Amino acid sequence: MTTLQYARRVVPGAKIRLREIDAGADGGLTRDEGRARFAELNATLDAMQEELYAAGTHALLLILQGMDTAGKDGAIRNVMLNLNPQGCHVESFKVPTEEELAHDFLWRVHKVVPRKGMVGVFNRSHYEDVLVVRVHELVPEKVWRARYDQINHFERLLADTRTVIVKCFLHISKDEQKERLLAREQDVAKAWKLSAGDWRERERWDDYMAAYEDALNHCSTDYAPWYIIPANRKWYRDLAISEVLVETLRPYRDDWREALEKMSRARLAELAKFRAEQGGGSPTRAGAG
Ligand code: AMP
Ligand code: MG
Repeated sequence: MTTLQYARRVVPGAKIRLREIDAGADGGLTRDEGRARFAELNATLDAMQEELYAAGTHALLLILQGMDTAGKDGAIRNVMLNLNPQGCHVESFKVPTEEELAHDFLWRVHKVVPRKGMVGVFNRSHYEDVLVVRVHELVPEKVWRARYDQINHFERLLADTRTVIVKCFLHISKDEQKERLLAREQDVAKAWKLSAGDWRERERWDDYMAAYEDALNHCSTDYAPWYIIPANRKWYRDLAISEVLVETLRPYRDDWREALEKMSRARLAELAKFRAEQGGGSPTRAGAG
């Protein structure tokens, strides 16, 4: 298992307590140092995405969860900035529609997981079905309790069929959330993001933290680990997420490059055969002589 400097992996079987984890961590870096390190990681991620896309043997699924204002949108904007848009898609999960509710809770999720070669980012996810659904008692306890196992089985299926899964919980403090909600109120250009519901949900903060702790503790597995991302500082949040992505994808690179080399050699051999059949040499490029 790779060592991470910025994010914390939830070890399967361990019991994490969110209040013991500093949401304001800065890793001993200044903002400028953090941004510089982030830029390096992002460049690596860009190269990795190209290999993932071209090799077409795996998909990457990044799941982002967090309280309102935790920075899911900002993280998506920044972490995906350098990626090739052709190889990415973002899926946002809202209050389920009538049709979605008439199916099992994974139906709408399974339909939009990334295909091989693609990076899929989930802005919220099936975890809402053990978070908001639990806090607001939208289904009986027996139903949401069974979902931890159901989620693990679902993620196991994805992982077994070559979807690399990374789950990030954006951890902000309750004070930081208040600052951000108030800041949005002060800024007309940002107020569109606000809803009275954000303040209402905030009153259930402790219930949400309990629900998050259970989700992180029950559903962090070797094949689909949870990472806790200290997110009070936006630059640190971006840095920590990109580090997790780079370190998660790194072990696959040799295989992807090997697959690509094989594909390239096969294409070139095919072309050489074509030319031989034409009975001529290779055409020269314009200006090449
Ligand atoms: P936002 O991310 O701000 O656009 O808000 C989306 C809203 O949809 C949040 O309040 C979520 O809690 C809610 N939501 C997402 N999934 C579910 C679900 N499965 N059941 C109920 N509410 C959900
Ligand atoms: Mg919101």
